[in-house]
Amino acid sequence: MLRINDIIDKAQTYLPPEDLEMIKKAYIYSAAVHQGQVRLSGEPYLTHPMEVAGILTDMKMDTAAIISGLLHDTIEDTLTTTEQLEKEFGKDVAFLVGGLTKLSRISFGSQEERQSENFRKMILAMSDDIRILLVRLADRLHNMRTLKYHPQEKRFYIAKETMDIYAPLANRLGINWMRMELEDLSFQYIAPDAYNELFAKVAKSYEARNRYTQEVKRIIYNVLKKNSVKCKVEGRAKHLYSIYKKMHEQHINFDEIYDLIAFRIILDSDQEKSCYEVLSMMHALWKPVPGRFKDYIAMPKANHYQSLHTTVIGPYGERVEIQIRTEKMHEWAEKGIAAHWRYKEGLNGYKDREDNEIKKLREVMEIQNEIKDPKEFMANLRLALFPDEVYVFTPHGDVKSFPRGATPIDFAYSIHTDVGNQCIGAKVNKSIVPLKYKLQNGETVEIITQAGHHPSKDWLKYAVTTRAISKIRNWINLEEKKNSLALGRDLLEKEFRRHNLKFSNFVKSDEINKVFDEYSVNGLDELISQVGMGRLSAKRVVNSFLAGETVSVEEPATNKIKKRKTASPSMGVSIVGAEDMDDVLINFAKCCNPIPGDEILGYISRGRGIIVHTNNCPYIKRTNKERIVNIEWNVREENTYPVHIRIVCDDIKGVLTEVSSIISSFDINISYAQVETTDMVAICNFIIDINNLNQLNQVLAAIRQLKFVKSIERLRHF
Ligand code: MN
Repeated sequence: MLRINDIIDKAQTYLPPEDLEMIKKAYIYSAAVHQGQVRLSGEPYLTHPMEVAGILTDMKMDTAAIISGLLHDTIEDTLTTTEQLEKEFGKDVAFLVGGLTKLSRISFGSQEERQSENFRKMILAMSDDIRILLVRLADRLHNMRTLKYHPQEKRFYIAKETMDIYAPLANRLGINWMRMELEDLSFQYIAPDAYNELFAKVAKSYEARNRYTQEVKRIIYNVLKKNSVKCKVEGRAKHLYSIYKKMHEQHINFDEIYDLIAFRIILDSDQEKSCYEVLSMMHALWKPVPGRFKDYIAMPKANHYQSLHTTVIGPYGERVEIQIRTEKMHEWAEKGIAAHWRYKEGLNGYKDREDNEIKKLREVMEIQNEIKDPKEFMANLRLALFPDEVYVFTPHGDVKSFPRGATPIDFAYSIHTDVGNQCIGAKVNKSIVPLKYKLQNGETVEIITQAGHHPSKDWLKYAVTTRAISKIRNWINLEEKKNSLALGRDLLEKEFRRHNLKFSNFVKSDEINKVFDEYSVNGLDELISQVGMGRLSAKRVVNSFLAGETVSVEEPATNKIKKRKTASPSMGVSIVGAEDMDDVLINFAKCCNPIPGDEILGYISRGRGIIVHTNNCPYIKRTNKERIVNIEWNVREENTYPVHIRIVCDDIKGVLTEVSSIISSFDINISYAQVETTDMVAICNFIIDINNLNQLNQVLAAIRQLKFVKSIERLRHF
């Protein structure tokens, strides 16, 4: 069992004495809060954070990371809070342990394998600081090393997760030794039979292979020595999982695998050139196998691994794989990103290497921000691998990725168009959020729908995915088309009727094709909707139709030709001369807020039907005359219209009550009332439901009678 002194012994080789005191303090703290807890192995729980800290010390991580290793389970498993950690160990540690706790709370559900990449990305995105991820990996590594104490079915699940998610993460960060160990440990539990068989075979040939390895190493070393190349030569058995993968991928037996051992030449020199020189010495010594040479120096792997790989025909006619690299390349190949916490050359030596190392790191991590202070950068290294993406869970535990800034609306449309269209709300981690809420990494999102609900134009402000935006637009366009078809038909019917003609006859006539040509429309629907959108006036269509017949189609000065009209009762207005307006969408303008009794005009909007304005509304005066239709009130008694009134009066007690009681005496509903008091005066705002102008005038007159009222007005928003 690892003891704190073992950790301190390792740490003091590269950390200052005051940091060692902090590590001891964290150990004492961890021991106290985990007191009494036991692992599945029967050992005290403390052994786990100790081992994790030990791994981090081996990786030569900084003090905050080691302390975070010792404390990584304290928030999750004890009564410790982030605030306590910050007080005892500072912001850095509290931040790291907080991040680790968030990560550990992610449950992976029963995901499809293809989603693993999304999981990996999510973990990366949630590791705001690269050290969070490194501690997490160390944590997982120790759990894998002690996996045998878990019940059988859990072992398989954890091993699979490690193989799918954590080993690739270690690989992405370039920490090769850890990737290999995680892979072999996972392999052992995922496919125990295959593992044991392979293990036995490799073990059986161990003696012979060892002798062989020594011999090849000696030959290589002698050749290089003769050429005065300073280097180390290593011969190492490949890890079991890579052998297993090779057998599977190439469909070969164990006996057919020759290169169980990878030989490695690590040059003292920093020169890339020397690697190529050594390569040609090897090719002179043994015949290269064609097509087996790989130049990862000129073309590094995605995780920035660099080396020359070649396979040659060895002393016994067998294939021998040789890797050639410099000491620096080797360090990167083994330790990857963790190599950056190495202080072995002392702080000065470390600083000299910074430039190059950080450049590499930036490439690997795709960090775009300009680095001003490299030390600060190292201390607070943020993972900016996927700055533009956010990863969230569905209620079933699947991961979905979205552009940053995505809202529940985007999420809803990613599930299904109907879910999007009928979305009325969302829950994030079980609590209700507004539709404009911006999703955060790791959240679980659930959409609330209601049959018959429709998207609104406002949603376009909150949606960021093209899918959601185009689906919302689609819906709005369809809706607008429906509206404009109904309105266009009404306008055309009315206009034809004014000339004692029937629109339906026109539709059946041959003349209609000429009209289509004249306005370049593709048929009746388009013609009607053009009229309904106000792009084409009904008058012009009739004129075109009558063109050959020299019938006067002068617009009458006023609408004298009032024919029978039936209003659409719910709307309260009808187009002068129109017969049936059931399908026409009517909206009341918010600027002038007309009520029955006001003189009104209709404005043909693009897709929102007719907008009713008052005659004197400045907006309607500015608009295109072609879009204006004559309309009139056609109201039922019970129709009410909201009117905003504002009363300025003395600031005395009971103003609101008195005004309210007058309004109520007219049997008028008050839907909103509010008083603001400033110096000396009170301003009362009411929204009241009014039947018509006459009634409004009566109420206003009655209120004006009150002696404390200074002024009263009907508010509009011109
Ligand atoms: Mn742990």
